[in-house]
Amino acid sequence: MDIKKIKNDFPVLVENDISYLDSAASTIKPRNVIDAINYYYEKLGVNVHRGVYKLSYDATERYELSRQRVADFINCKFDEVVFTRGASNALNLVANSYGMANIEEGDEIIVSELEHHSSMLPWQHVAKEKNANLVYVPLSDEGRITVENFKKVLTEKTKVVALTYVSNVMGYITPIEEIIELAHEVGAIVTVDGAQAVPHMKVDVKALNCDFLSFSGHKMVGPTGIGVLYGKFELLQDMNPVEFGGDMIDYVYLHDATWKDAPYKFETGTPLIAGAIGLHAAIDYIESIGYDQIIQHEHKLKNYAIEQFHKIDGVTVFNETSDTGIISFNIDNVHPHDAASVFDQEGVCIRAGHHCAQPLMKYLNQIATLRASFYFYNDKKDVDRLVNAVKKAKEFFAFFE
Ligand code: PMP
Repeated sequence: MDIKKIKNDFPVLVENDISYLDSAASTIKPRNVIDAINYYYEKLGVNVHRGVYKLSYDATERYELSRQRVADFINCKFDEVVFTRGASNALNLVANSYGMANIEEGDEIIVSELEHHSSMLPWQHVAKEKNANLVYVPLSDEGRITVENFKKVLTEKTKVVALTYVSNVMGYITPIEEIIELAHEVGAIVTVDGAQAVPHMKVDVKALNCDFLSFSGHKMVGPTGIGVLYGKFELLQDMNPVEFGGDMIDYVYLHDATWKDAPYKFETGTPLIAGAIGLHAAIDYIESIGYDQIIQHEHKLKNYAIEQFHKIDGVTVFNETSDTGIISFNIDNVHPHDAASVFDQEGVCIRAGHHCAQPLMKYLNQIATLRASFYFYNDKKDVDRLVNAVKKAKEFFAFFE
């Protein structure tokens, strides 16, 4: 991988002397994605699905071409791809539609303490509304979801399993394929939060046999405001829309209405057309680099960073065995937010906080952590800069002790 060349594709990296290590929050965008978005606004700019003129046909074609690109990318059918505002919106759609219609009193919904709030809270809501039980997979000593522990909570009452594929704090990969198989044996469906997986590893929904998968464009070099819900077509067809209005209807009467087939019944109003077109370009970019390369590269950077952290006293890493490019750590006696502000002065962008995973912070016995997350546009120099910033933060705050 020619990282120098890759960095040149990202205007933010060309224009700023920074080490961008916050890709788990949002990735930065390459030129081809920006060009694709601009193309829509400069050359088309009109609505989709409605206009009976060439520009609108062209915009519709590009929008729907993006849906086909996503379908090919995750290996599903065209009409199994619902465009959403992001992963949160997609995860909520599953809970509010499938969950509200299928969960009954006494049913069990399996989640974990590793979940991002967006994967957990929609099911908390369903459980409360339906008098169902939210059941947590006990995490292993390392803080992982294991098949063994999953078996301990799976029962005949389990109706939904809502788990993250990759934790946004620990970077652990969930053994989701085996979990899906076990869940199906008791007749439960599995909704997978793929927000941190799809940007970093090949996800094939047919091979996984998951029922739903949600992810966001902005974490995979695509635009903000666009995401995807994959759902098995038969499930999507059976589900009710949760938002109603323009474009999603078949016919409207005064006291009733009928809907289009999936995926359109879930996409009311004018969609994020530029976002979908930008997502198409993002997938092109990622595939031009290749997942094998991405994973290997992230691993190398993560291992190198952990190695360097070991040489500094007073740095605690919470996920030494992270499977991806995410490292969560803290510096003894330095609040993560204080550390992050020193990092900022050093040109190192990382995240400090609870990472929308407060139950996990409680599990780790921390109020917050620092999180560095690597992507394919990072190199060894970025890690060196991070390590140097950690040393600086330590020195700076030692002065006040
Ligand atoms: N799940 C995980 C694992 C995430 O990391 C995130 C984003 N931090 C989300 C869901 C929510 O994604 P979005 O903010 O794009 O809706």
